[in-house]
Amino acid sequence: MSVLHHKPMDILGLKQDIVKNFQRKIDERNHDKAKWMTEENLERVSACPICGSSTQHADAIMDLTNTRYVCCRQCQHVYLLKRLTRDALERYFKSDLNVNCMYADPEISQKRIEEVAKPKLNWAIDQYKNQYGEVPESILDIGSGAGHFVQAAREYGLAADGIEISESSRTDCKKLFGFDLINTNFYESDLDLTQYDLITFWGVLGLIYSPTDMLSKAFDCLRHSEKGMLIASVPKWNSFGTSVQNIHTDTIIRHMNVLGHIHIYSESSLATAFVNAGFSPCGAWYYGMDIYEFLMQLSYLSNIPSLPEKTAQYINPLQMTIDHAGLSDEIALAGTI
Ligand SMILES: [Zn+2]
Repeated sequence: MSVLHHKPMDILGLKQDIVKNFQRKIDERNHDKAKWMTEENLERVSACPICGSSTQHADAIMDLTNTRYVCCRQCQHVYLLKRLTRDALERYFKSDLNVNCMYADPEISQKRIEEVAKPKLNWAIDQYKNQYGEVPESILDIGSGAGHFVQAAREYGLAADGIEISESSRTDCKKLFGFDLINTNFYESDLDLTQYDLITFWGVLGLIYSPTDMLSKAFDCLRHSEKGMLIASVPKWNSFGTSVQNIHTDTIIRHMNVLGHIHIYSESSLATAFVNAGFSPCGAWYYGMDIYEFLMQLSYLSNIPSLPEKTAQYINPLQMTIDHAGLSDEIALAGTI
């Protein structure tokens, strides 16, 4: 098992929109929560979505309006006890027009390719080379947003496609990069998606109704390849960023936003999900935005808008310490078939 720590990047440059408009983003999230987290849109979960252990064997670890996060004693997966129904969740994602608006800016977009998509692609290729001694011939990216990762893979010379259910994101991709993302729901899709060597879920498995269904579908697609690999990145509960957000539950717009993340993983629950779907974990990567989160909350609390920029020099060195300690708010895992 290969393990990498840290991913340096210019977070404030990428997040200009949020740094300048934090209050507006908080208001938007709170408005969305009030609109969507209503009784008719919610259902109660009876078992851990990863290992199936009853919710009677889960402990409440964070209370929020109308719901709470619980932690499974069996696999340490953290999940919402009451969450949007499958139908409401699909309607929410199709309607969430604000989600990618900043990614559609051409200047930010290029920065995002260099600082986010290319490091992810390079790590994915390294993982593939470690296992199979060559680069993958083809990649399918699920939940591509505005298509930055797919574009980075195409620039590298790989045959890459992406799936995206949000119409506004597909439109942004076409505008920015000139190609179409596939409009299909991966889990239910009857398209032939068996020609790929590598399937990626960047930041998707925390958001979706059933991660286990998605991973089983990915295994079904990849088992046709002799050299199949799956890569997924997820929000991680045991992190510095979680502690920060646990203190500031009214101003959460990142990984513990209940409309975004139904699932927050432990290393154990992510590995369990991989193994149960048929994948053998072979590489992990710890990285995150914990220090950025901390500075944003401090800035908001102290009413010093310039604080993140004035303390920007601390972000990467402190984040590196967090990542090396395994306390980052994100983890990526690679697995072979
Ligand atoms: Zn569990």
